[in-house]
Amino acid sequence: MKISGAAVFAIAIASVEAFSPASVQQRNGATALFSTTEGSKPRTKKEGRLGFFKSEKFHRKGFKEVRDNVEDTINEQYQSSLVDDLKSSNYVIEKDNVKVYLAKDFGFCWGVERSIALAYEAVRHYPDRKLHITNELIHNPEVNDRLTEMNVNLIEKLGEGKKNFDVVEDGDVVILPAFGASYEEMDFLDKKNVEIVDTTCPWVSKVWNTVDSHQRKGLTSIIHGKYGHEETVATTSFCEDYICVKDMKEAEMVADYMANGGDREEFLKYFKNAVSEGFDPDKMLEKVGLANQTTMYKKETKAIGQLFQKTIMQKFGPSKVDEHYYEFDTICDATQERQDAVTELVENGNDYGLDFILVVGGWDSSNTAHLLEIPHHQGIRSFHINRADCISADNTITHRTVEGEIVTEPFLLNLDKDLVLGVTSGASTPDAAVQDALSQIFLLKKMQDAAKEGSAVKSD
Ligand code: SF4
Repeated sequence: MKISGAAVFAIAIASVEAFSPASVQQRNGATALFSTTEGSKPRTKKEGRLGFFKSEKFHRKGFKEVRDNVEDTINEQYQSSLVDDLKSSNYVIEKDNVKVYLAKDFGFCWGVERSIALAYEAVRHYPDRKLHITNELIHNPEVNDRLTEMNVNLIEKLGEGKKNFDVVEDGDVVILPAFGASYEEMDFLDKKNVEIVDTTCPWVSKVWNTVDSHQRKGLTSIIHGKYGHEETVATTSFCEDYICVKDMKEAEMVADYMANGGDREEFLKYFKNAVSEGFDPDKMLEKVGLANQTTMYKKETKAIGQLFQKTIMQKFGPSKVDEHYYEFDTICDATQERQDAVTELVENGNDYGLDFILVVGGWDSSNTAHLLEIPHHQGIRSFHINRADCISADNTITHRTVEGEIVTEPFLLNLDKDLVLGVTSGASTPDAAVQDALSQIFLLKKMQDAAKEGSAVKSD
């Protein structure tokens, strides 16, 4: 991995669409903390967002004078010679009776590289200021630990969507993470005397533009995403009427209500945390637009889109589909490419003789969790670990299952043969984390082989 400053910053910021005035609705949850109208006339959320960007205190392009220095630091901390070797040897390597196949697309996406670079530049550009971040920068423990080591304060969560912004004082610097921040947080910070460094990935901003276009067309946004995920929390804050569906089962519940109606109270009870305030399923499912969390499983988003399109067609007739349904694919390329690459590994799994597939990435990382689902659903033994030390010298592995449980189980099962594994990593995982995990496996295999032979292992 070599991060180029030019590449990182030659990224087009998501296009800005025209907007039409509309009244601002107050929302529940965090909105109660932050007024959207205080000190200025009411405005649309998109108008408000564009207003934030115009402020001299709102920084979206980084700080040139420290860029080269930051680029060197990032490469030093996160790149891996082992992963570079794997890439240059056609994504396969053999060492100490272990054969490793690396997925063709894996690891840091440009949105994450950009976000880390902007955060590091902020630290260097404001050496004497207190810095805060409104959430984890990305879902990766090593990267977040590094920011903590650089004295960036992670603003404490107080529960029920509230955070302790009391610690932010005049003159401080506040970093917004790669998933973005909610409208209410941006509005609140805009009114304070602080510098804001916005590292939101442009793909996420694209989703916000999509839900904004739903509002202009008078559509309810159906968001394929997890309502509690930081990115979806931010996206819903830019919506007026919305409902979140996390998977096909929930999409089918919504489609069924659209087509046939149902028990309104039961429906609202089930989706109580996943809908906008005052959501009325009898009125608000007549005209809908689909958007998604950028890191969802692409095949599922597509299937959900087809389900709603079919439901609308059956209810209103084919000629009325455009009037009642709008879809815009907002799965980011990085997510799709990593899913395609692990699918290819799975398809070749028998030919390669894979014992298992290892997925490396933060346990809270949605895109990493989806990478696990692909081999899991094909019946291939697979593990999602967040750090190398999930692999223990006692030949156990601690991993996150597709159901989200953290479990520990025996790891290398057949000690009489060479080990063959596939490996991939999420979009927020540094190559160095993959190297650490593989090194742990090489060492463990060596230990197991030595124990079998009755000799002691020498560490490299
Ligand atoms: S996974 Fe996609 S949306 Fe998320 S940071 Fe990377 S490029 Fe942006």
